[in-house]
Parts: sequence; structure tokens; C-alpha cells
Amino acid sequence: MSSPIEINSIYPPDRLVIPGLYVKDLKGVLVPEGLIKDRVSKLAEEISSKHYPNDLLAVCVLDGAMRFFVDLLYNEHMLAPVTEVETLKAKSYEGKESTGKISISGFDFSKVKDKRVILVEDILDTGTTLDKVTKEILVHNPKCLEVACLLDKPSRRVTPVNVDYCGFVIPNEFVVGFGLDFNGNYRGLKHICVLKEEVYRTEKK
Ligand code: 5GP
Ligand code: MG
Repeated sequence: MSSPIEINSIYPPDRLVIPGLYVKDLKGVLVPEGLIKDRVSKLAEEISSKHYPNDLLAVCVLDGAMRFFVDLLYNEHMLAPVTEVETLKAKSYEGKESTGKISISGFDFSKVKDKRVILVEDILDTGTTLDKVTKEILVHNPKCLEVACLLDKPSRRVTPVNVDYCGFVIPNEFVVGFGLDFNGNYRGLKHICVLKEEVYRTEKK
């Protein structure tokens, strides 16, 4: 598998197309839409070359990974047959802070038995969420389990987690856009953007 692309610079928000409503809340753009699109296609190609022509069960970790999940699985470069799609809800964040306590709901884990499973997550931060979800899947005896994650913030890791397909390694910034939210806002931004600190400080959790 290809190594993730390391992102180290932030583009000023006035240099790319961002809805005016959001510009004042953003420190800048970390991963522009075009780069996300190309990298997601590459991950789709890599998953296909590994698994084609075997059937896959793809599991989306809601809510943040929904956009990545759709772009990855319905990508023109995804040739492996994704015959089953499922979702689960994992909640750890309150506002900007990970609570460390993960609640998982909405998924019947017994469905993974003897299946080739791809778990799709938006961002790997402390690692607590993926650690808990992958362990729970493995208890139910899938044929194999792989993890695809769009973003990784390695500097925040508390629990080590193995990721098979990773899009980008990013600095320790709170990001929104491309499906990632802050208290329900900013999901619709096309680029992955960094939220200004004053937004999390002033907004009620
Ligand atoms: P972990 O359990 O690895 O600490 O956190 C994973 C979850 O926290 C992710 O699936 C995501 O929902 C949320 N998260 C972590 N970092 C960020 C971030 O920078 N922005 C947003 N919007 N969510 C984040
Ligand atoms: Mg997530």
C-alpha cells in the first residue's frame, strides 16, 4: 500500500473557494478538494488490486466518515465488488474534545462472520475509537479485516492502531469539512479545513 501524503502547510482561506459564511471561522485549508479526490481514487485502486474479485463488506463509522465512505466505495477506480454496506455509530467527541469513552451503536456485529471486512473511518486521533471497533469486529470472526482511514493525526496517539489504507497524515489541528463536523456544523465544506481556535473556545459544547 502507498504511504499517506504528509500535509504540513495551511492555505489561507481567501485563496480557494469557500462559502463566505464560513471564511471567518477558518484558519485555512489543509487538504484541498482536488487532492482529496485523487488520493481517495488511489485508495480505491489499492483496495481493488488487493481484493478483486472477492466480495467485500464495507462498514462506515458514522457520522464523520460518511462522505469518505461514499467517495471511496462508489469510486470509478473501485473494482472490487462491495456487495454489502453497513454503518455503525461511534461517539467519543463532545465538541472538540475526545471523552475517551466510546459508545458504539447501530450495528449487528454478528454480520461480519466469515466476511472480508473493510472498516472506513474519517480520522485517527487518539486511536481509542478504532481500537474498540476493530477489537469488537475481530471477536466475531471475519475472514479478514482491513481499515481505511482518510486522515491520521499521529502526534495525538494514545492507543496504537493498524491502518491499511490511509489518505493523509496531518498536524495536530482540529479539522472540519468533507464530512467532518464541529457540533454538527461545517460538514458540507469541500476542502478539509482547520477551524480557528476562537470558534471552539466561544461556541458552547
Ligand atoms: P479517537 O478515538 O481516535 O481519538 O477519535 C476518533 C474520532 O474523533 C474520529 O472518528 C472523529 O469522529 C473525531 N475526531 C478526531 N479528531 C478530529 C478532528 O480534528 N475533527 C473532527 N471533526 N473530528 C475529529
Ligand atoms: Mg469518525
